[in-house]
Amino acid sequence: MTDSKFITKLMPSKSDEALSLGAEYLRKGEVVAIPTETVYGLAGNAMSEGAVAKIYEAKGRPSDNPLIVHISSLQMWEQLVEKITDDARLLAEKFWPGPLTIILPKSERVPMKTTGGLDTVAVRMPSHKDTLRLIELSDIPIAAPSANLSGLPSPTSAEHCMRDLEGKIPLILDGGECDVGIESTIISLCNDTPILLRPGKITAEQLGAVLKKPVKISEAVLNPLKKGEKAFSPGMKYKHYSPKAKVILVRGSLEGFKNRFNNSPKGTYALVFKGEEEEFSQRAAAYGFEHDADSQSKNIFSLLRRMDDLGAELVLVRCPHEDEALGVYNRLLRAAAFDVEEV
Ligand code: AMP
Ligand code: MG
Repeated sequence: MTDSKFITKLMPSKSDEALSLGAEYLRKGEVVAIPTETVYGLAGNAMSEGAVAKIYEAKGRPSDNPLIVHISSLQMWEQLVEKITDDARLLAEKFWPGPLTIILPKSERVPMKTTGGLDTVAVRMPSHKDTLRLIELSDIPIAAPSANLSGLPSPTSAEHCMRDLEGKIPLILDGGECDVGIESTIISLCNDTPILLRPGKITAEQLGAVLKKPVKISEAVLNPLKKGEKAFSPGMKYKHYSPKAKVILVRGSLEGFKNRFNNSPKGTYALVFKGEEEEFSQRAAAYGFEHDADSQSKNIFSLLRRMDDLGAELVLVRCPHEDEALGVYNRLLRAAAFDVEEV
């Protein structure tokens, strides 16, 4: 690699030595890839404009796309927001540490660079125990978008991070494969009605049950932005999660899917539900059980990456049920640039 700035070290996140080194880098304003239960994150000091600039640079991410700030204690949260509202506290008590990001009006202390110019800040407490320790050790809130090159499928293993970021960052902490496999659910509590901006493992129903009021699902979850429309959640406006291959979501029966597959060119691969892969001679992999969002989430990003390794030109994906697996459906819609076929 010609533009290498670093010889990237790969160390197990459970080692004390790795965590101290990680904390030292974070305190010095460098960026480090870290495991979380959702996907791997590219971590830097959220309170330092210089560190945040390095995150955007390493990812090749547009700088109006705000970052999620990761914390290890409620005291850290207090410093980041104007006020922790009752609703916010209720959700944090129930779901933290865990895959839920809460957006509130930000305090003056959070740099605009971290929030992509917004006056609100997205915060979460991750549950991966090594990463919680890392945040405690460094004693700073950590901005951490997914540790992939912008636009590619999110990384769910240290190896994925290495592929995307080798030479660009000094350290990758290997904490094994991510449990959840898709990014956190994002809820905005900045207005009277709570709004779900990004679906994830924690559902709108679960959130509504704790808040004892309905949670509105943002239109951007299922629809592309119209021309000139302002994104509530700026990340929604970018092409996302895509392998090099073209991806098409195919909705309908297995029979219909098989017909579509059999009439497709040679470089076509199929991502199907568990048990169905045997019905295809080759060039098919299962990404999860049909009615089990958790199993689908865990595998979907690594399989999208694998499609590129196999040289796929077209990937046909059995469409997940959006009422059962909204998070997976949302990611696949973007990977497919909203190309959905009915069979
Ligand atoms: P990633 O870091 O890759 O998981 O993406 C984080 C996403 O969180 C961004 O793309 C935004 O869509 C969303 N986000 C972060 N902060 C805010 C905020 N203050 N308001 C709305 N959306 C946000
Ligand atoms: Mg991302």
